[in-house]
Amino acid sequence: MIQWGFNINQPRAINLDKNDRLVADRILEQMPELEACIACGSCTATCTAGNLTSFNFRKVHTLVRRGEYKGAYEEMNKCMLCGKCRLVCPRGINTRGVVLLIKQELGDY
Ligand code: SF4
Ligand code: SF4
Repeated sequence: MIQWGFNINQPRAINLDKNDRLVADRILEQMPELEACIACGSCTATCTAGNLTSFNFRKVHTLVRRGEYKGAYEEMNKCMLCGKCRLVCPRGINTRGVVLLIKQELGDY
């Protein structure tokens, strides 16, 4: 086989129908404003923890809303609760509250 010096990522499609959305629905019930997220990425761009670690807040909360919970709790533990993301969110979402809610709901998932 020819070695090109790079790998092609495996396709990664998320089957929303197959995912267990129970926790995601519970989170959205308690924080309905999260439905208004436009995935702009401002929260991640300004994130203090994201500047120091590989933490990507937008990625984690987007995956959680899709019923992908693996590793989300551990990722959210990187958050310092500084609140900068909340200041820049164009949708006025209580992003710090999102962090706490995800940790609360996924604590023993
Ligand atoms: S800044 Fe607000 S609207 Fe933008 S991705 Fe983050 S939570 Fe969603
Ligand atoms: S509260 Fe957490 S997610 Fe938001 S900017 Fe601070 S460290 Fe990042």
